[in-house]
Amino acid sequence: MPQYQAPLADYQFLLKDWLSLDSHYQSLGVTDFDFELASEVMSQGAKFAEDVLAPLNRTGDEQGCTLKEGQVTTPDGFAQAYHEYIANGWNSMLGSAEYDGQELPYSMAVPVHEMLHSANLSWRLTSMLTESAVLAVTRHATQQLKDTYLAKLISGEWTGTMNLTEPQAGTDLALLSTKAEPQDDGSYKVTGNKIFITGGDHEWTSNIVHMVLARTPDAPAGVKGISLFLVPKFLPDGQGEPGEANAVSVGSLEHKMGIKGSPTCVMNYDGATGWLVGEENQGLVCMFTMMNDARFQVGLEGLGASEASFQGALAYARERVQSRAPQGVQCPDDKADPIVFQPDVARMLLTQKALTEGCRAMAVLYSGYMDAERFGDDDQKTTASQVLQFLTPVCKAFMTDMGLESASLGVQVFGGHGYIREWGMEQLMRDVRIAQLYEGTNGIQALDLIGRKLTRNKGQMMETTFNELSKRVEAITDTTMQSQANALLNDWRATSADCLGLAPEDVASAACDYLAYTAYSLVGVLWYSMADAAKQSDNTDLASAKQKTCDFYQARILPRRDAHKVAMQAGAASVLSVSGSEFDYR
Ligand SMILES: Cc1cc2nc3c(=O)[nH]c(=O)nc-3n(C[C@H](O)[C@H](O)[C@H](O)COP(=O)(O)OP(=O)(O)OC[C@H]3O[C@@H](n4cnc5c(N)ncnc54)[C@H](O)[C@@H]3O)c2cc1C
Repeated sequence: MPQYQAPLADYQFLLKDWLSLDSHYQSLGVTDFDFELASEVMSQGAKFAEDVLAPLNRTGDEQGCTLKEGQVTTPDGFAQAYHEYIANGWNSMLGSAEYDGQELPYSMAVPVHEMLHSANLSWRLTSMLTESAVLAVTRHATQQLKDTYLAKLISGEWTGTMNLTEPQAGTDLALLSTKAEPQDDGSYKVTGNKIFITGGDHEWTSNIVHMVLARTPDAPAGVKGISLFLVPKFLPDGQGEPGEANAVSVGSLEHKMGIKGSPTCVMNYDGATGWLVGEENQGLVCMFTMMNDARFQVGLEGLGASEASFQGALAYARERVQSRAPQGVQCPDDKADPIVFQPDVARMLLTQKALTEGCRAMAVLYSGYMDAERFGDDDQKTTASQVLQFLTPVCKAFMTDMGLESASLGVQVFGGHGYIREWGMEQLMRDVRIAQLYEGTNGIQALDLIGRKLTRNKGQMMETTFNELSKRVEAITDTTMQSQANALLNDWRATSADCLGLAPEDVASAACDYLAYTAYSLVGVLWYSMADAAKQSDNTDLASAKQKTCDFYQARILPRRDAHKVAMQAGAASVLSVSGSEFDYR
């Protein structure tokens, strides 16, 4: 089993030397926080991830969850770890101070979140969705709902879920049929079936708060007739404590390829009492508050798995002795050399490292804009919102695609042993696979990027993202790297602008390639910027490794960008040409 060690030095470099955390906070007028505190938060988070969560990862996968007499039980140790997590305040890092949250900047919380995902992806999902539910309640619920639910969700005394999916309604939420009938007391009776609900039930907390999409009786058809409801497992009594059981039950547990320690439930709502969140028929807008947060977090799942797989692969490659290295004997006293000296193994390890650290830079960049959207002045908020909207699908899809690629490379470095359960490498691959599917498949993220984010206001979000990244490029001191980063950025802008006038079928068929082209370009820019900043670091190993990994990225990974550009510019004709019986002739 890979022994997980949180990448603290990389995060310290990214926050201190690359994001310049103290100046970043000053520019937002944030005076209570600094790099020193961020460092302490990360160290403590690392301990929890390494010592408490990582040891439960393998057993969680083997035991899975069980459903007995309507109650779900998670693997041994999961509930206890959760109780430790909330007792130490981790759940409340981002919550509003008005409801006893700590209101920490995202740039402090995101490193910890990556560590939780690396250590135990299954375990992390329930608290992750609770944070997203907190956002939806904070932004859209009535004062009464906020007062009843927020403090308990923020502390983690209760957890939250997200209920969109139904058997006939996955990507296409226009098809959802769960009903909500208004009652005289202002509540609603919610009736319907939801599938695939993460954290739908468990034994961790005394109550669970379901955020459910449903239709009121006279709602218009399609997505314009969807509303959001808050439906607790137990109805709060006069003191706000869990009282009478609501008409919510778990129909069954899904049997899955991975994340077996996470309870994925079929949920039945049989006239369950719920309350409207936000305006009637505006449910999708409210749910998007939750989903955008969750989409970025799912990106972190990819990053976390990539880091964990890299660590396992590197340790193994240093130990495993096979063949002689083609560049010359490395260990003359042994019969063969460690495989880490094989160029093909080095290629795999460096691919994992370059993708992991590149995606981590993207996550840290994103967290800086989340800080700005929360603490900044009006102009900073507007800019941040545009960059975040543009980058959300990129982070979600690219970081999860790279997470799977890295986890697969990790298996490959182990050879046949990677396919055997005891090493834990195959679990990482099985666990991270879901991240490309949920919170909107990666295909849907790509359509969101090219079809909505790029085109809205004639490319304004892309232009704002370009301007913001240009500032990073201007700050690069090495003139060669600066001009290379500039060339990348300018090519991306021009190519993006060319997409604005495409026909709908060309947009849809170019989507995945455009997202990949965008991500490889932006991560290329970030690598130049990181390598340059690393020169200022006191850590000389880190400085030289960043430069060499940047060189590797630009030489061996960035060329993928060109292939995606050619493919996206090929148009829809070849994609749509084979049809009907032409698929079936064999
Ligand atoms: C383990 C697990 C946990 C989950 N947790 C939750 C949860 O907590 N809450 C929740 O509500 N849901 C949850 N989901 C559901 C998940 O979000 C959906 O599975 C996902 O959104 C895709 O929907 P679908 O499975 O119905 O696939 P479909 O929508 O049927 O899609 C099938 C394929 O068609 C493609 N496709 C569909 N429509 C289009 C289109 N318009 N354009 C291009 N391509 C398209 C998709 O990209 C996909 O490749 C979970 C799922 C799993 C497996």
